[in-house]
Amino acid sequence: MLSEDNLKHLANRKVPVEITGEQFKLLGYAVVDKIADFLKTLPEKPVSPINAENKIKNIIGHKILPQKGEGSKFILNEAADLLFNYTTFNGHPKFFGYITSSAAPIGALADLLASAVNPNVGAGVLSLAATEIETQTIKWIAEFIGYPTNCGGIMVSGGNMANFVAFLSARKAMLNWNVRGEGLNSKNSKQLVIYASTETHTWLQKAADLFGFGTNSIHYIPVDKNQKMKMDELKNHYNKDIQNDLHPFIVVGNAGTVATGAIDDLPAINKFCKENDLWFHVDGAYGAFAAALPDAPEELYALREADSVALDPHKWLYTPLEAGCTLVRNRKLLTDAFSYHPDYYRFGDEDDDAPINYYEYGFQNSRGFRALKVWAALRQAGKDGYIQMIEDDILLMKYLYDLIQTHPELEAVSQSLSITTFRFIPDDLKDKENTDYLNKLNEELLNRLQNSGKVYLSNAVVDGKFVLRACVVNFRTSKKDIEMLPLFVTETGREVDKELRVNK
Ligand SMILES: *Cc1c(COP(=O)(O)O)cnc(C)c1O
Repeated sequence: MLSEDNLKHLANRKVPVEITGEQFKLLGYAVVDKIADFLKTLPEKPVSPINAENKIKNIIGHKILPQKGEGSKFILNEAADLLFNYTTFNGHPKFFGYITSSAAPIGALADLLASAVNPNVGAGVLSLAATEIETQTIKWIAEFIGYPTNCGGIMVSGGNMANFVAFLSARKAMLNWNVRGEGLNSKNSKQLVIYASTETHTWLQKAADLFGFGTNSIHYIPVDKNQKMKMDELKNHYNKDIQNDLHPFIVVGNAGTVATGAIDDLPAINKFCKENDLWFHVDGAYGAFAAALPDAPEELYALREADSVALDPHKWLYTPLEAGCTLVRNRKLLTDAFSYHPDYYRFGDEDDDAPINYYEYGFQNSRGFRALKVWAALRQAGKDGYIQMIEDDILLMKYLYDLIQTHPELEAVSQSLSITTFRFIPDDLKDKENTDYLNKLNEELLNRLQNSGKVYLSNAVVDGKFVLRACVVNFRTSKKDIEMLPLFVTETGREVDKELRVNK
């Protein structure tokens, strides 16, 4: 029996995390004001904080967990100031590093709405509206890229997870024993083989490793001079592996590699997979959305034939982090790979017209409402709006390629989708074989550019060359932002070159 005191205490329960309606409005308006000012002044800010790593550790690192609560207004103000001053802004017009997009502002508002209502999108009955919106979003994504809209799908946190979900669907569908019960150690198991080009993103290593295949089961296929998988090499590997009684089961095709945006010969990979009963998976985390363009590179459209596609709305749909998406052609194969029915869940079966339970489609159990921000932005811009934004990103990088090609101190190295790679070569080294020095020079140049706060580039290694890599998945980047790049890079490059030669 509870004591009188306890009962009295409960009757006047105090809850330190609650915020009243009036307070919420005041705090919320203030945060929204700050965000609006932040977005407005973003182009004038440094792209990345300059020499700030130690400073931020000193500010945050020594704070102990407060014993008593602090004021909400104070907390939110401090958080905003820290974030505005110590972040590399992927939404800055001069952010050209990695494939991390500027975030559609409507996504921020949608996220606020989603977390305020907080539906658990693990089970349909717990989130009727949210589950339907997620289902519709997945369908729209499929429609956007021309994939069959009766496919299965799920929203996940990003490209890695999207590829993992597809990979495990393939595992269940392609292995001819009860892999969910017996695992990979079945007596029926031969040595399993995964094919992918050497340019494939590192998610595949994690997948092969963490799901028990081992990274040795990845048979990497070399690429040609355009960074595309060599099809004859794939065929040779396959024939040899079959002769050696191995069990190949999947080929991963790239719809836009992470380093240079290369698109594998997807029609040929599709044909090869169909002929040999292999799962055809497309990693389209970056490039799949470009398949919506009427004049996309022809080979991209063959992702429509794939058994599964991984996409990243937080890349070319400009959704705020995190949003990934898996599409699986045969929707049943998703639940085949992931579904369990424990006693403590009575959520009903899809077959009986109950709403979809997304916990049966992937890794997560409780799930947040990731789809809302994607759904809202798709509606705000429409299909045409998105096609135009993606097209413009690509045009900007083609323009950069043209500028570099006509610049005497720059060498254009690659251009595909919205990625252009190039390097700085001092005048007197133009016709000399000097890879080691040029690699050192361009690496130091990249460090210098990244620490300038004026522009953010990343790098790639192409044919042993260390190259600068510009990538635009950014609706804020303008023609002017591109035009400053060759100037700034060569100016800085000359400085670095001079210093390196003096210190030699
Ligand atoms: C970005 C990317 C990934 C990984 O996606 P995350 O969202 O960072 O997890 C995988 N493959 C390709 C081709 C990518 O561009």
